[in-house]
Amino acid sequence: MAAIRVALAGSTGSIGTQALDVLAAEPESFALAAIGATGRQPEVIIAQARTHRPEVVAISDPAAAPGIIDALPGIEVRVGPEAMASLALDADVVVNGVVGFAGLSVTLATLEAGRRLALANKESLIAAGPVVQRARRTPGAELVPVDSEHGAIHQCLRATDNRDRVARLVLTASGGPFRGRTAEDLADVTVAEALAHPTWSMGPKITVDSSTLMNKGLEVIEAHELFGIPAGEAGFGIGFDQIDVVVHPQSIVHSMVEFTDASTIAQLSVPDMRLPIGYALAWPDRITTPFGRIDWSALGRLDFEAPDHATFPCLGLAYEAGRVGGTAPAWLNAANEVAVEAFLAGRIAWGDIARVIAATLARHDGAPASDGASIIAADAEARRLATDILIQFTPPVGAPR
Ligand code: MG
Repeated sequence: MAAIRVALAGSTGSIGTQALDVLAAEPESFALAAIGATGRQPEVIIAQARTHRPEVVAISDPAAAPGIIDALPGIEVRVGPEAMASLALDADVVVNGVVGFAGLSVTLATLEAGRRLALANKESLIAAGPVVQRARRTPGAELVPVDSEHGAIHQCLRATDNRDRVARLVLTASGGPFRGRTAEDLADVTVAEALAHPTWSMGPKITVDSSTLMNKGLEVIEAHELFGIPAGEAGFGIGFDQIDVVVHPQSIVHSMVEFTDASTIAQLSVPDMRLPIGYALAWPDRITTPFGRIDWSALGRLDFEAPDHATFPCLGLAYEAGRVGGTAPAWLNAANEVAVEAFLAGRIAWGDIARVIAATLARHDGAPASDGASIIAADAEARRLATDILIQFTPPVGAPR
């Protein structure tokens, strides 16, 4: 069988580098056709291109391009805001590992080209749900989640042929670094504490999202978009009332599906993002992984507990925005990106992230999500408002001014 041709959008980030590990482990199954990044870490993308020899390199920031072009003779370098999205035409599968709303063009271009999208960029699906759903109907287009929870649900759903028999999706959450703490405990946590995730190795934005449980909130909306759209299309007709979150600190059970007969199927593996990346790349086949396996004799126990909504209000905010639908999830996502960036820069306290998002969502204008332009406008409006709102918060004590 011919190797599957893979393009990596966001190749220098956490997902991109781990995807390269998967490709290197199975060179007979996969061929690296293209990589793309902003270009703001030129030495990293140059080293990746020299080691892995893709046919094409895409650089979205033109200012970074000249040095990269000079360093890579014999490799086609595409430059500009649309360069990364153009990689869809060079590959069978595109891994979208771009961080944040900036990944939207890659998501849409890949589906509209009728290719398989291995989606790690949940923000594009959450913010632009209705538009992405339309793109998913393109002949040949497939969306396989890279997010570990959704990869788990994707696997668990293979236990039934009858979509009407799915009763409930249960997303597991590690609980992040602040599990078991109270809001008062968390009033003065530092950026370093928020970035110290107990089980997963991920980039800074998603790690802060894990500390607030916004990551889980975004994943609830992601699950609804992936599996909840009316049965008979790609989905299983699941509503928000049928998507639950349970905290599971060991991060071994990645999510579960409960069926109408009260039987629950769970997917288990060690917490290593290379496993869901490999699943999305190889599906409907599987990789032969050299990465970690569960050591049952050392595992000991699996714990489960209810999420603490009072300490982690971001989870409830996400359910609210998901139920409102339209452009509300785009607003939620934009306000969160602005607030997390401000927290990482030391401009607001950790607890203010949820306050900025709540205050922004309270002013949601109810605009419909009719096309890509309306999503981009909603994202811009919510960012403008959130930026205005966060000026009212004082920087935490000891933060750089
Ligand atoms: Mg996840």
